[in-house]
Amino acid sequence: MDIRSGKGVSFVRRIYLPRIFGKAMSLLAVAAAVWPLDASIWLWALMLFNGLAWPHVAFLWASRSASPYAAERRNLLIDSLMAGFWAAAMQFNPLPCLTILSMVTMNNVGSGGRSLMLHGALAQLSGAGIGILVLGANLQLHATDLQVYASLPMLTLYPMALGWVLFKLATTLAEHKRQLGDLSRTDSLTGLFNHGYWKDRLRLKFLICQQRSSTAVIALIDIDHFKAINDTYGHVVGDRMLRQLSDELKRCLREGDLAGRYGGDEFCVIFPRTSEEQACLAMERLRERIAGYRSAQLPDLRVSLSIGLCAYRAQFEDAEQWLDEADRALYHAKHEGRDRVDVAPAASFTGLRLAWPE
Ligand code: GH3
Ligand code: MG
Repeated sequence: MDIRSGKGVSFVRRIYLPRIFGKAMSLLAVAAAVWPLDASIWLWALMLFNGLAWPHVAFLWASRSASPYAAERRNLLIDSLMAGFWAAAMQFNPLPCLTILSMVTMNNVGSGGRSLMLHGALAQLSGAGIGILVLGANLQLHATDLQVYASLPMLTLYPMALGWVLFKLATTLAEHKRQLGDLSRTDSLTGLFNHGYWKDRLRLKFLICQQRSSTAVIALIDIDHFKAINDTYGHVVGDRMLRQLSDELKRCLREGDLAGRYGGDEFCVIFPRTSEEQACLAMERLRERIAGYRSAQLPDLRVSLSIGLCAYRAQFEDAEQWLDEADRALYHAKHEGRDRVDVAPAASFTGLRLAWPE
């Protein structure tokens, strides 16, 4: 697998812009703090490199790495190390030091949680140690007006930029969550509910009918001799047939009716707050439309449906019994010659199932 795609690279990209902004603003704060301290030329060169070039170097380094995610975490630790070093270089001038260290810590928490925060704190301490070793240990507790103003962009604009990035991330995550939810409910071929989700809705509908004494009807729809259609015209035509049937089904239903693909060539519908007659009419319409289907490319192709219906009854103990009765009505339609809609008669369910032929 190419690990340069996916999570690692998007993490590197997400950090790129905030780092450009953050480093430019901290350059301003550090430069103002170091200015009166008579710093050597190499320190200014390092400051310019860190403030202006490092974000691009870090981006290229991480995005071209074999493991961009790990490389970006390393870059964040380098940011922390440098923040500690600049704190020593600024002789721990409180305002710019706290501004830079707290922004870097915020970055670490936002990017890697507690672990990166703790590792980042160690890197900051190490950076400060290196700074003391190289530049000496000095304290400058007084901030000039210029140093206060130079810290303001980092204090105000950077949290806004970071907040914006987090907001975009949160909305992207919410969208991905919604898409995943849709995927887990949907049959990929037809776009209808899949078996599992439809059964969950059936159980829910059963409870509602039980508690509120409301009416509902379920239908099981099966394509007649679908195996022969596949065998004669091929699976691509079979798949197209399944999609066409699901489109017709959606057209036949009202808002609130719940259609799913039960599996293979079998479909299922819940008609809430619907009488047996209304559901039967809707299914008859669907059966007729499908029976009248003609294809210009395949003039011999004929399709018919067998449909079993069952209305909710208070005697049912659970949703499975309700479904079982609809299945028996479907079996009856098949047994009686196919291309028909059969309704499970109320008398058929006595708990012993006497009326349908076995
Ligand atoms: P019956 O009238 O008794 O229902 O006959 P049938 O041939 O439709 O019966 P059966 O349920 O045994 O056949 C269903 C066929 O549906 C078998 C399987 O190859 C086919 N099938 C199941 N899923 C798919 C699919 O996603 N695409 C296609 N093209 N065919 C499928
Ligand atoms: Mg079939």
